[in-house]
Amino acid sequence: MSDPIRLGIFGWPVAHSKSPQMHEAAARALGIELRYERFEVAPDDLAKAVRHEHDTGINGYNLTVPHKQAIMELIDEVAPTARAIGAVNTVVRTNGRYVGHNTDAPGLVRSLEEAGVQVGNGRVVVLGAGGAARAAVVGLSNAGADEIAVLSRKPEQSEALAQSLTEDVECNLEGAPLSEASWYFETATLLVQATSATLESSAGALEFAASLPIDVLPADAAVIDMVYTPLKTSVLARAEERGLTIVDGLGMLLHQGAIAFEMWTGLEPPLDVMRSALND
Ligand code: NDP
Repeated sequence: MSDPIRLGIFGWPVAHSKSPQMHEAAARALGIELRYERFEVAPDDLAKAVRHEHDTGINGYNLTVPHKQAIMELIDEVAPTARAIGAVNTVVRTNGRYVGHNTDAPGLVRSLEEAGVQVGNGRVVVLGAGGAARAAVVGLSNAGADEIAVLSRKPEQSEALAQSLTEDVECNLEGAPLSEASWYFETATLLVQATSATLESSAGALEFAASLPIDVLPADAAVIDMVYTPLKTSVLARAEERGLTIVDGLGMLLHQGAIAFEMWTGLEPPLDVMRSALND
């Protein structure tokens, strides 16, 4: 009998992560032995903890906040898309080497496709300038978006993001201040909320949503919020009031996990099982 597959997630904090239940449920459904642990590790301890797990021969792992950037220095190789995004959320042991990937970008695209939202030829507005926003830009550009505008409250951040990705994307990409949102919203086909402002724990979530010119989005625009706690964020609630198509962040979580599961096991992930594990 082969050894069980050993996986985990490094985060700080990580107790809230639903990844263990999602991957273990998928493994049970497929009849394979798989253990997925939580590694709660402070930034200063990441290198030591990762080295330890590599020494034990762990098959792969996920990274969540705040480790997605720091891990890039600690592994053997970073895949080109993850390198462009500047963040690794999935590491896979391949021929004894630990290789970093970013499955957030294709996960976002798959969740939009699943919801029937067309990305190709779209005019996309991305809110935020962190790792999630960078993943959205690369993923949506690869999926054929025509134009992407990245808006952030500190304009120098979205401008720097756009500048650093110009060589990696084929679409028209620009960074601009969040205060100019109306101009971009008026012609958008898709709004991607990639800030942490709508998190349950964020004190100003309602104010943030109220400050956005959701009313000028075209009637056929779609809005996705990457945040999934709560599922219906303040921004999605406003978009829904307008009758726009809304997509929550759980689909992205599911699909980034499903893509990682396939990389680790070589098996087709049972999406329905994983989805219901996330809903438990
Ligand atoms: P970061 O911390 O790297 O970036 C957060 C961004 O949000 C920054 O640009 C920050 O701007 C901005 N921001 C925070 N508060 C506000 C506010 N009140 N108004 C305007 N901008 C604000 O986080 P990530 O990019 O890694 O992740 C962003 C969110 O996406 C997370 O909350 C996470 O839950 C979600 N996510 C979901 C995934 C999924 O699978 N569904 C996958 C990855 C992420 P500033 O620098 O000015 O503070």
